[in-house]
Amino acid sequence: MGFKVLNKKLWEKQFTDKEVEELTDMEAVAIGRKLAKELSEADKAYHTYDDPKLTDAQYDTLKLNLNTFQKVIPGFLQQIGYSKSVGSSVSSHFEKLKHSIPMLSLNNGLDEKEIYSFVKGIKNFLGIVSQEKLSITSEPKIDGLSLAVTYVEGNLVKALTRGDGSIGENVILNTKNIFDIPKKINTDMTVLEVRGEVYMSRSDFIELNKTQSQIGAKLFANPRNAAAGSLRQLDPKKTEARKLRFFAYAWGETSRPLGTDQFESIKELNRLGFRTNSLMRKCETVECLLKHYNEIMLERSDLDYDIDGVVYKINNLVYQQRLGFRSTTPRWAIAHKFPAEIAITKIIDIEVQVGRTGSLSPVARLQPVNIGGVIVSNATLHNQDYISGKDSNGEQIRAGVDIRIGDSIEVYRAGDVIPKVKSVILSKRDPRSQPYIFPTICPICGSATSKEPNDSTLRCVGGMACAAQAVEKIRHFVSRKAFNIEGFGRKIVENFFLRGWLQYPSDIFLLETKYGPNCIIKIQDIEGWGIQSATKLFQAIDDRRTISLSRFIYSLGIRYVGEQAANLLARYYVSWVDFIKNIKIATDKLSPEWTDLVLIDGIGETTAASLVQYFSSKESRWVELSLIQEIQVEDFSSDVSVSSPFYDRRIVFTGSLDKTSRAEVKSQAEVLGAKISSSVSKKTDLLVIGKNPGSKLKKARELGVKVMSEKEWLKILDDLR
Ligand SMILES: [Zn+2]
Repeated sequence: MGFKVLNKKLWEKQFTDKEVEELTDMEAVAIGRKLAKELSEADKAYHTYDDPKLTDAQYDTLKLNLNTFQKVIPGFLQQIGYSKSVGSSVSSHFEKLKHSIPMLSLNNGLDEKEIYSFVKGIKNFLGIVSQEKLSITSEPKIDGLSLAVTYVEGNLVKALTRGDGSIGENVILNTKNIFDIPKKINTDMTVLEVRGEVYMSRSDFIELNKTQSQIGAKLFANPRNAAAGSLRQLDPKKTEARKLRFFAYAWGETSRPLGTDQFESIKELNRLGFRTNSLMRKCETVECLLKHYNEIMLERSDLDYDIDGVVYKINNLVYQQRLGFRSTTPRWAIAHKFPAEIAITKIIDIEVQVGRTGSLSPVARLQPVNIGGVIVSNATLHNQDYISGKDSNGEQIRAGVDIRIGDSIEVYRAGDVIPKVKSVILSKRDPRSQPYIFPTICPICGSATSKEPNDSTLRCVGGMACAAQAVEKIRHFVSRKAFNIEGFGRKIVENFFLRGWLQYPSDIFLLETKYGPNCIIKIQDIEGWGIQSATKLFQAIDDRRTISLSRFIYSLGIRYVGEQAANLLARYYVSWVDFIKNIKIATDKLSPEWTDLVLIDGIGETTAASLVQYFSSKESRWVELSLIQEIQVEDFSSDVSVSSPFYDRRIVFTGSLDKTSRAEVKSQAEVLGAKISSSVSKKTDLLVIGKNPGSKLKKARELGVKVMSEKEWLKILDDLR
C-alpha cells in the first residue's frame, strides 16, 4: 500500500517518497507526527479562524496519507497523539502569536520612599527641575490577567494573553463571551489594540466556588486563579458560564494616537465602549499620589474586585516616549504595592536547599497559615548569618535574635515573593530549644562548601556532579525566560534526572536521538503519562531548537548573569560565535577582550569574572560539546535598522550634560543601535562630552577617537527624527 500523492510538490517538500511498508518504525513515527501536526494546523486554521491555509486538494492528500499509516500500522494515530477532535471549536491548544509591541510588566515600588525616588529619577532623566510639577496618573492595580484585544476596522480580530511578554496565546473564542469586551467598536481607526485586565468579581468568584463545591469540582484559591482558569478554558462554553470582566487601562498598536495624553487616551477608550476604572486620577505631586493611594487602600475591601496596589504612569505621552523601556519594564510607570500582610505561626523544621549555583539556602517549614487568602507553609531564611541574627556585614538584625526550630514567628508576604520572617516571638520560645546548627557540607551530595569574602552564602563545590545543582540548572534552562519549554515542570525534570535520562540541560534535546521511539514507551511507564502527553512534550522541545542569543546566555544559569546582563551581552557581541570567542580570550585579564567585557555599560567586574570563570571551567563543557550541536542560536537583532548612523558604534558619554540627562542620552543611543561603554579605549567610535569632560577627553584625543559636544549630538538626533 503506497501513499496516494495528489500534490507531489507539497509531499516532497516535507516528507518522503518511500512506501509506508519500507519505513522503519522511527521514520514512520517521525513522518506521522509531521503529518498530524500539519493536519491539526490546517484544521485549526480552517475551523477556528476561518482562514484555510491549504487548498482542499492539499488537505485531502495529508488526510489520505495519514489514513494509509493508520491502516498499515494499527493504533498508529493514538501512538503519535493525533486527536480526532480537531475540527470542532474546541482547540487542543491556543495559537501563539507575537505581540505587536511587547507586553511588559511593571516595576514595583514597595514603600513611599521608592515612589519619591521613582519621580525624582524621572525628573532627572528628563532634565526637569525637582520643584517643577509633573502630571502623573494614578489608578488601582487590578489583580487579574493582562489581555490585549485588537480591532481591525472596528472588528475584534485577536485577543492575546501576555504569555512571556513577546508571544501570547490567542484566546479570542473565549473573549467573545466577555461582555466588557465589545465585538465591534465605532471608530475611524484602522487598527486599535486595547490592553487591560481580565478578572472575576468577588461575588462571581464566591458563586463559582459554591457551584464547584456542589458538583464536587475543584475549588479555586482566589478570583485571579479562577479568572485564569476560565480564560484559558478549552471549551468556550465554560468561559461563558464563568463570568469574566475586563478593565481597559492601556493600548498597544494604534493607527493614530488615541488622545493627547495618558488620561485622555483612557477616557477615549471609555467613549469607545470599554469599561475603564472610575478611580483613576491625575496628580502633579508625589503627595497627591500617596493621598490617592491611601484612599484606594481604605476603599479596597468595599470593591467587588481584588486589587494589589496602585499604578502610577507619566501622563505626558512625549515624556513616555523619551523615557522608553529598560529591558523588561517601562521607565514611565510603577506599581505601588499594598503593604504586606502579617500572620503568626510556628517553625516546624528548617531545611537546607541547594540552588542552581550551589548556594545553601535554608527554608523554614511552617505550620500552614493563611496570609491574605494564600496558605503559606514556607519562609525563606536566606543564609547562615540571617538565622543567627546578623546581616552580611556582621550587623545585628531582629535585635540579634536567632531563629530556631520550634520558634513562634511573625511571617509576611509582599507581592509574589517568598514569605519572610518578620520577627521571632521570644516570649513563646521553649526554654529547652537549641540554636540551629548550619550544615558544613552539602546536604545533597556531601561535597565540601566554600564561602567567598563579603558573601554570607555557603556554596556546594560539587558543580554539575551535585544532583541538586544539576536539577536546578535544568529547571532554569527550561524556564519561561530561558528555553521556555512548555510542560517541562519540576516533577518531570526530577523524574527524568532520577531515571538517568537527563544529566545536563543539553540532554533534553538528545532524548529522542538517544532513546528513539522507545523513549515514548519509556515515558509512558511513568505514572499518569500517555502517548499524547509524551508526544506533546517532544513537540514542545522541538519547537525550541531555535533561540535568541540573549535567552541562550540567560538559560545557562551563570551566576550574576540574569536577564538584563544576558541582554546586554547579546547586544554587545551579537553572535554566539563572537561571544564565546571573546569571553574565552577575556580569561586573560591583561587582554583587551577582558577590558571590553568589563566596560560594557551595566556588566562590571563581578559579572565579567563569573562569566570567564564559567566558560574556562569544565562545568561548561556540555554547552559547546553537545548543546550547541543540537540547537540554533539566532544573532541578536535590535529593531534598529542597520542604516542608523550609530548602529553597532561604541559610544562613551562623559562630563555633565546640559540639556538632557546621562540616562536619557544612553537610552537614545541604544535605541539607535549603539553600544554604550563606560570608558574610552581604542575600540571607542565616539565620545560625547558635556561640561568638564576630564580624563576621558584626554584619552580620546590620544587615541584619535572622534569627539562630539552634547549640542552636536542632540542636533544629529533631531535630524534623524
Ligand atoms: Zn552538592
